[in-house]
Amino acid sequence: MQHHCGLYGISDSHANYYLINGLKKLQHRGYEGCGISYISKTNEIITYKGLGKVDEVFKDYQFEFPINMGISHVRYSTTVKSDPQLSLDKTQPLIGKISNEQFALAHNGNIPDVDKIKNEYGFIIDNHSDTFVLLKLIEHLYTTKYHNLEDTLKYIINIIPGAYCLLVLTKDKIYALRDQFGIRPLVIGKSKKIGYCFASESVALENFDFQRDVIPGEIVMIDNSFNLKTIYQCQQIPTFHFCSFEYIYFMDPHSFSNNQAIEKIRYNLGFVLGTQEKDILDQSFILAIPNSSIAGSTGFAHAIKKKYKKYILKSKTIDRTFILPTNEERKIACDNKFTLHKKHKMTNKNIYIVDDSIVRGNTLKSLVMKIKKTNPQSIHLRIISPPIISPCYYGIDFPSSQELIAYQKTIEEIKKELDVDSLKYLDLDSMTQVFGHSACTSCFTGIYNKKLLDW
Ligand code: SF4
Repeated sequence: MQHHCGLYGISDSHANYYLINGLKKLQHRGYEGCGISYISKTNEIITYKGLGKVDEVFKDYQFEFPINMGISHVRYSTTVKSDPQLSLDKTQPLIGKISNEQFALAHNGNIPDVDKIKNEYGFIIDNHSDTFVLLKLIEHLYTTKYHNLEDTLKYIINIIPGAYCLLVLTKDKIYALRDQFGIRPLVIGKSKKIGYCFASESVALENFDFQRDVIPGEIVMIDNSFNLKTIYQCQQIPTFHFCSFEYIYFMDPHSFSNNQAIEKIRYNLGFVLGTQEKDILDQSFILAIPNSSIAGSTGFAHAIKKKYKKYILKSKTIDRTFILPTNEERKIACDNKFTLHKKHKMTNKNIYIVDDSIVRGNTLKSLVMKIKKTNPQSIHLRIISPPIISPCYYGIDFPSSQELIAYQKTIEEIKKELDVDSLKYLDLDSMTQVFGHSACTSCFTGIYNKKLLDW
């Protein structure tokens, strides 16, 4: 039950507005549930959460007083349809207790070997998320060993290698932790007046200025007097492992992370793929699949000196399909996800479809069938990342290996399955060169960092 989520935290005199609005900007990181925790006038933590999108859950929500501090969370999970109550229980922030005082915890990522924590500390916890295990670990270490939250968090960031960003809210502080490998994004925003916020993506900073990324292995704190302070920085940080898939697909194109604009990275991936094309057929169209592949398609089209066409329209009501629980639901969603612009004719043209990645291939199969009905001359698929051949254990809910279209298949076999005339992927080296730094590529290689899985 892995999930992929978005975090927001704020200490600012306008926290009422930003706590929910910041979360709306992170909606693409989780549709199934969302929640907020903030400090009441009497220094209690108040939490409100529900299943559904931010607009639905907080439609009629009113703060009864001005607030200064809070954290919020959007969650992505496959469990919602099968058991809504269980899903609501897992919707964050989760509330714990240390020394008779409450704290709230929100988590983005996935702890791959959560059983190790359960076994080592004797936790009997069934049917709960890895976030709940982290919550219990904080309570346990605080009570039995450290009697101090900062020392407890320092211990955690040293012993658990990944994959997480955490926000911890107490009655007068917010702590932000990013794991030593830096797998998931977390940024700090600074108000033009006073105040700070944390967000999974810079697109959620709104009127706050981007200050910097939280450094891998760093614990940062903002307090209720609007001060920001680094509490701790792990020594000997391992090789940076930022998730390639965040760059390629997950992050909002208007975000930037690790000092790079996401849109520009996708453009460059497409451009490099375009430079590898030897002969582009005459009478060809470059089609972008909205929204995540528009920048990549633009880069690809520029490299081959063409313009991309906005012939594919995306449904505003259908979200990311690879996460849906059943194949049947995924197929229906894929069939309805894209339509073709009726005005534009593709008959007898050579169509190049540029996409960011292929997971199961359902969306592309459905799209290729629709394009074929317009009688094109040929259809060519170009992917701005390498084939995904292995699952993710670090927080993105990819299917099992067997469900991945590229698992144990040659490019020729994938091409046949997708029913296209040619298929090319960007190679791994070219992709990481575009990133300009080391990154996690495990789902493309099937090679997992041992320090992250066995610790
Ligand atoms: S395995 Fe893939 S999806 Fe998971 S963190 Fe690594 S690059 Fe990202």
